[in-house]
Amino acid sequence: MKTINDFNFKDKKALVRVDFNVPQSADLKVTDNTRIQAVKPTVDKILNDGGSVILMTHLGRPKGKVSEQFSLKNIVPEIESVLGKEVKFCDDCMGEDAKNMTANLKPGEILLLENLRFYDQEEAGDKDFAEKLAKYADSYVNDAFGTAHREHASTAVIAQFFPSTKFFGLLMAKELDAIDKVLGSGEKPVTAILGGSKVSTKITIIENILPAIDNLIIGGGMAFTFVKALGGHIGNSLLEEDKLGLALEILEKAKGQNVKVYLPVDTIIADEFSNDADHKEMDIYAIPDGWMGMDAGTKTKALFHDVLMNSRTILWNGPIGVFEMPNFSSGTVSLGDSIAEATKLGAFSLVGGGDSVAFVKQFGYDDKVSYVSTGGGAMLESLEGMELPGVKAINN
Ligand code: AMP
Repeated sequence: MKTINDFNFKDKKALVRVDFNVPQSADLKVTDNTRIQAVKPTVDKILNDGGSVILMTHLGRPKGKVSEQFSLKNIVPEIESVLGKEVKFCDDCMGEDAKNMTANLKPGEILLLENLRFYDQEEAGDKDFAEKLAKYADSYVNDAFGTAHREHASTAVIAQFFPSTKFFGLLMAKELDAIDKVLGSGEKPVTAILGGSKVSTKITIIENILPAIDNLIIGGGMAFTFVKALGGHIGNSLLEEDKLGLALEILEKAKGQNVKVYLPVDTIIADEFSNDADHKEMDIYAIPDGWMGMDAGTKTKALFHDVLMNSRTILWNGPIGVFEMPNFSSGTVSLGDSIAEATKLGAFSLVGGGDSVAFVKQFGYDDKVSYVSTGGGAMLESLEGMELPGVKAINN
């Protein structure tokens, strides 16, 4: 992996693709600056070498039109505060101003270009657009993991104009290394926890990771399809009827590859999908009609805990209960505690993809796990075994 640590940026201009697609409030203030914080090490390294940094990113979906709402000018103060440096701003990523401002950038300075998606050519992966951007600098750094699964002008196409001066930023390197640990280079035993609502969205991941893992914990809504396939009575719990056969196939495949599968054994059932519903604990194979499983039960928490205490590498994707409802969040909280404890004892833990990331942030586990991925889609596609276009473009 060729990273910025392999290069000295003294007197060089680096064009750095970042993912500052940050959430904003109604008055356009940044409400979560994780993605800005995440690229600080990359920016610092280039500046400390004596280079200058040209930042480029998209924000939202302006669909090729200039718009106040998606202007990066609104997030410049937050970027300056996180990076601790002045950030110059060019209000168009193309044109004379961009050419002049990039040409005049001095070592130690940072320039941010306006939203790349104000031009259709960005998402279309237009080669001329990429080449124009490439002219601003003598090196290209991709540190936009959150967008690495897109083959856009600034994330992939542009790399061809820097045959020997294209690098992964430090965030990209960290993300790829974390995935690599789960998929092969990490210490064994490796345990993957897959939760969330649907089997159908996780199948490709399961099939791809089976050869690399020792234990597979299946929880959340998707577990009920497995329980039913095994002959359980699941009442009104979440079910993907057309995936019953597939669930059995996955269990067979896991067996064939010596992967131990752990399903929940008990569950908190409710008489409706609401926090205020009547609820009680029940064997997961004997849920009465009219009731649905909403969270992991006591025995399940203990079972998952034991597996995690004996794991050295852990991947977590998807909550194991309806954590958005306080009465049904205790299974996911307990799982978070177990992962935190395993991490404290030296295991490597990666949390990736959508709702589990939201969970760890909301419940304060982000400092208690080894790594929280900054890219939902990119993380999931990597786990599905795809080579991300943004990664391929640097590796080629
Ligand atoms: P996904 O987007 O597939 O990762 O699913 C995440 C969602 O799964 C969260 O919103 C959880 O509330 C939901 N979920 C977890 N466990 C259950 C369950 N037992 N029944 C229904 N939904 C669940």
